Order: sequence, then structure tokens, then C-alpha cells
Amino acid sequence: MNKAALTLQSPCTELKGVGDRVAERLANLGIQTLQDLLFHLPLRYEDRTHIIPIARLKIGQSSLFEGHVTKVQMRYGGKRSVIVNLEDDTGSVELRFYHFSTPQLKQLQIPNVRLRCFGELRWLGNQRGIVHPEYQIISSYAPFESSDHLTAVYPTTEGLSQNVLRKLVKQAYDLLNPLENALHDYLSTTELKNWEYPSLNEALKALHFPSSQLDLSVIMASNYPPRRRLVLEELLAHQLSLQQIKYLIQHEAAHSLPKENALTENFISKIPFKLTSAQQRVISEVSNDLAKPTPMLRLIQGDVGSGKTVVAAMALLQAVAAGYQAALMAPTELLAEQHYKNFSHWLNPLGIKIAWHSGSRKSSEKQETLINIADGSAQIIVGTHALFQKDVHFSSLALIVVDEQHRFGVHQRLALRNKGSFGQYSPHQLVMTATPIPRTLAMTAYADLDYSVIDELPPGRTPVKTVNIPNTRREEVVERIRANCSEGKQAYWVCTLIEESDVLQCQAAEDVCAQLRSALPELKIGLVHGRLKQNEKEEVMHAFKTGEYALLVATTVIEVGVDVPNASLMIIENPERLGLAQLHQLRGRVGRGQAVSYCVLLYQHPLSEHAQQRLTIMRETNDGFLVAQKDLELRGPGEVLGTRQTGLLQFKIADLIRDSDLLPQVRELASKILLETPQIIEPLIKRWINTQQNYLNV
Ligand code: ADP
Ligand code: MG
Repeated sequence: MNKAALTLQSPCTELKGVGDRVAERLANLGIQTLQDLLFHLPLRYEDRTHIIPIARLKIGQSSLFEGHVTKVQMRYGGKRSVIVNLEDDTGSVELRFYHFSTPQLKQLQIPNVRLRCFGELRWLGNQRGIVHPEYQIISSYAPFESSDHLTAVYPTTEGLSQNVLRKLVKQAYDLLNPLENALHDYLSTTELKNWEYPSLNEALKALHFPSSQLDLSVIMASNYPPRRRLVLEELLAHQLSLQQIKYLIQHEAAHSLPKENALTENFISKIPFKLTSAQQRVISEVSNDLAKPTPMLRLIQGDVGSGKTVVAAMALLQAVAAGYQAALMAPTELLAEQHYKNFSHWLNPLGIKIAWHSGSRKSSEKQETLINIADGSAQIIVGTHALFQKDVHFSSLALIVVDEQHRFGVHQRLALRNKGSFGQYSPHQLVMTATPIPRTLAMTAYADLDYSVIDELPPGRTPVKTVNIPNTRREEVVERIRANCSEGKQAYWVCTLIEESDVLQCQAAEDVCAQLRSALPELKIGLVHGRLKQNEKEEVMHAFKTGEYALLVATTVIEVGVDVPNASLMIIENPERLGLAQLHQLRGRVGRGQAVSYCVLLYQHPLSEHAQQRLTIMRETNDGFLVAQKDLELRGPGEVLGTRQTGLLQFKIADLIRDSDLLPQVRELASKILLETPQIIEPLIKRWINTQQNYLNV
């Protein structure tokens, strides 16, 4: 290997230890080049630099500790597990293993064997313990060699361990660092100096390999200069890329779709309710856009239940009335099917042909649909992202509506646009999201889109009642489910995120499900989590929807758009781990039917003052925009990270809400770069935004 020839653009396969398999897994994370690897930034850090006495282990904190085994027990009820008691001079703690081999078990049973472990202390039901800690067997005299920097924890994917990822990042950094200009700064030194930011090289080093001298809370604070510096650059790249897109699109042509038409009028006269004035306003904004000969690019924000679907229907009809096709895309099969049924119910009576396309349909049905799409006999096409695969050919697509936008990245959305382009015409595009973000943020997050808000709910809704209950009163909550479901109503139990570990997250959900099944034997209980295959997930959701399950235990995968009006109770466990916007989204799954609905925030006692304030907001308001605004106010720049905003765009390091105070700087810099150094725009975008991930290979 010729090291001198290495650049940021070299493929990861240049590194030792990266063969086809590792390369494929890296690609799953969007990592192809050394640059991608260096910009794959840690989620958090672990302090393995010193050993913590067992009595001082804290809930929610991962620590290094050691002791000797005093008891090993097999447990068979529910899921088979091994429970190990570990003791040091200060106290004892329970370790729990669900997957283990016989030799492993034998080792643990050696009398008085000593272990050095690393793991997070959590509540397991109402007991404290550690599930699957990392451990090694040590002799009692083993000296402890402390490492000189904290250990980074990266977002990763199945089959790629933290250790491998850490070593690769280190290798890439060590190879590139000595090369002149390899870690090139696009920001000028004057700017960095003005804002007292470190150079790119220093910032990357500080975040990947932080010194153990520093306190975790300093490094994790959002105002830590190396972090700020990278956040600024990422937001800048994002802003520039969206500005560029908007500029390009404004110069394309689209079919002009006349506003006045019999179809939309007929439809309005037939729906069984009166549109809210917010709906009317947004419909007219959309309708004006569609009548123009340039492509519409509009975002509609409307809280869950605000009635976005009717607005979408009006837009689709305007395209159909003009003789073109229109498509609506949803992020999951279940949502697509839900829309398909709704639209068929509304629009078949008007004589409109609606097709449904998804990856999982039988191939004979699929074939027929594809023919109808290609010959134009399907006028409205509803589907998942399968709509934008190679085998789909539209005959005259003039409008694309994307529902629940935040599940699709900005750049996926762009790939989809290309698919709809025919000759000189580009399709209009309407994006709908329930993620409530304040307007100033929306202007940055969706800088390429015009923006409408449905800021009013249809009349007659009863707001969800939210109560905050400590985990110590868990049994009461279980009784509440029993009472709720005995009346034939349904309920959700949501286990919250353990971010970087799918395995632990699902484990937690499985544990809770097992407990609830034994506490509530009379109820049928379903379980859905991220490790199920897409079709398995949808099967469970479907069974819940049809009422087969009374209670659904779920991880946050249920977040998006599922409509089960009969569900009137939601328990959210450890709500203090989530951002307010995400809690609000989850809560929106209930309160969709006639009955008064409740949301129980089952928090881990005791709460920090800050967490208490946040949960109080949830109790006091149901208004998504107010929730988002409060969220913004409560996050000062010094706040320690931990609640990632999963609802919005996927940034590598920035968080639009947390880092919103940087936005003026970002806009200032963006204008300056456009005028003075436009040549850095492309490389900057390439550094931060993975444009390779598009629809065609999801
Ligand atoms: P969302 O914005 O979350 O997608 P939907 O479009 O699914 O909301 O609407 C939620 C429910 O409200 C649906 O059952 C829909 O038929 C109903 N709805 C929509 N608009 C109105 C209205 N103006 N008056 C009464 N009900 C409405
Ligand atoms: Mg919807």
C-alpha cells in the first residue's frame, strides 16, 4: 500500500482489517471513504479509566467495576437466563445473561472467581442489575492499567463491534494526520479565531480520543468548543446544500395544474365534515403552487390528528383533474395500506382509479399494478418507497406527496424527485410531517421548501390526559391497564431507547413483555421491536389494529402514524430519556377515538430538576408547537447530551433544537461563502452529507 497516496477520499478497504464483509457493514452506516469514517462521530463516551466500587454504581451510568462471584443461578421462568451475584468490599450487584455457552457458565461457577466488568446499571423490573456486561476473568492480583483516554461509543450496525470501529477510526486518523493538508479546513482561520474554535484536526482528535483528564460532562456539553466547531460546519454544509437545491429547482419547469376543477369541488361537497380554517388556508396555498409552471416544493406541518390527509387528497385530485398521475408515499407498508384504504373509500365513488404498490405484494398483483402505472390507467398511486424502484414507470406523474417526512432523509427525497422527472418537466412535491418544530428552525431544516402549518385541530377532540408516575408505583399502572382493557379498550406500553444497542433495547422490551404477560394473564399481549423483520413488525401491528391484541409492548418503532382509535392508554417507560418532541409524537398514538385517553409517563425516580420541568410540560400541554418551543427554551447551550432528537433530520453531530443558537452564524457564513469562496461548497457538502444513500438502494 502506498501511504503517500492516501487521501480523505481513499476507500476504507485501504485500512488493515477491512475486507469485503467489514466494508459492507461500514457501507450500511454510510461509510465508504476514510473521510466518512473520520466524520462518523461518537454518540457518547465511556470512562474505563478507573474502577468504581460496586456500592457507588449509578443507575443509567456505564462503569468499570470488579469483584468476586458469590452465587450463580439458572432461571427458567419466561426466558432462560443466568443470574450472577458479584461482590466487592462495598456491596454486591446482580449480573444477568440471556445468551451464554456451557463453558462460559462453567467458568463463572469456579468458586470465588473474580471478574472485571463494564456495563450500565439499570432497573430490571423493580430490581437493579446489569444485563450482559462485558467481562473478563482476572486473578485477584491483576494490576489495573488505566488507559489515557476515554472510550468513544459510536453508532453502529449489526456485526460491527465498537472495538472494531474504534480501531478503524484510530487507524484512519493516524494515517491521515501526518499527511499535509489531508484534514483540510474549509473554514478560514479568521473565522475560527473570531469564534475561538479549534482547527478541524484538533476538533476531530478531541472528539474521537478525548483525554481522560477531562470530565465527561465537559466533553458531552453542547458548548464544548471542538463539538461546536463541527456542529457549525455540519449545519453550514446542510444549509448550503439546501440553498443550492432550491436554486436549481426554481429554474425547472413543471406542469401547471388548474385550480378550478370539478373533481376537487365534488370531493369537498362529499366529505362528512367541515374543513377547519387552517386546512382551508393550507389547501389554497398548495393549490396556488400547483397552478404555477415551476415545481412546488412545500412542507406541511400539522400536529398528529390535524387532518393532513384531506389536504393531500385535494392536491392529488388537482393533478388528476388536469389529466396527470399523482403518487403518495408513506414510510411503512402499514401506513401505505391505511392511506390506500382511506383514499379508496373517498375517491372510488368519484370514479378515480387508485393503485397500491409495495415490495411485499404477490408478484402477480404487483405485475398488474406496474402495468396500470405504466399505461396511465392508475391515476393515484399509493405506496412505500418501492414506488421509486427501477421497475416502476409512471406514464405522467405530476405530483409526489410524501407523508411523515422525517423517516426519509432530505437526500432520499431528492433521489425520488429525479425519478419523477420526464423530459423537461419535474413533478410538484408536497411533504407532510407531524414533527412540530418552531418556524425559525423549520426555515433551516427545510431551507429548500416553502412552509405551511395546519395549526388547528378539528373540533370535538378530547385532549390526551397526561400523568407522571414514578416507577415505584409500577403495580398501580399495571392495574390501570387491566381496568382499561377489561372494558374492551386497548393500550400501548412503550419501552424507550437504548440508543446504540438494538440488542439491549429489544431485550428490555422482551423482559417487560414477559413480566406483563405473567401479571396480566387474561390479556393477549403483542410485542414489536426493531429486531423483527419489517413484515413481522407489520404483522404484529396489524393484529393490534384489528383488536387481536389488547396490549402492545413496543420500542419506539411505533412512533410513526399508526392509527388505532380504540387504543386509549399509553404507558411510556423512562420518558426522561426522550426528547419532548419525540414524547409528543408517541403520545399522539392515543386520543384518536371517542373515549378519553391517557398517557402515563412512568419515570425513573428520582428525577433531576430539569427532567421534572420537561415532564411537567408534557402534562400541561397537548400542543405540539408549544412543546417544541418549550423544548427549545429548556435546552441551554451548556446542557449535557443524552436525548437525541430522533424525530428530525439525521445529523452526524448537530441537533437543530439544541444548537439553534448557532443558526445566525451559519446563515452569515453561508452567504459569505456563496460570494467569496463558492469552490468549497461541493467538498464541504460531500464531507457531511451522504448523497449516495438514495432510494434505489434502500
Ligand atoms: P394527520 O394530520 O395526523 O394525518 P388525519 O388526516 O389522519 O390526521 O386526520 C385525523 C382524523 O380527523 C381522520 O379521521 C380525519 O378523517 C378526521 N378529520 C380531518 N379533518 C377533519 C375536520 N375538519 N373535521 C373533523 N374531522 C376531521
Ligand atoms: Mg397522517
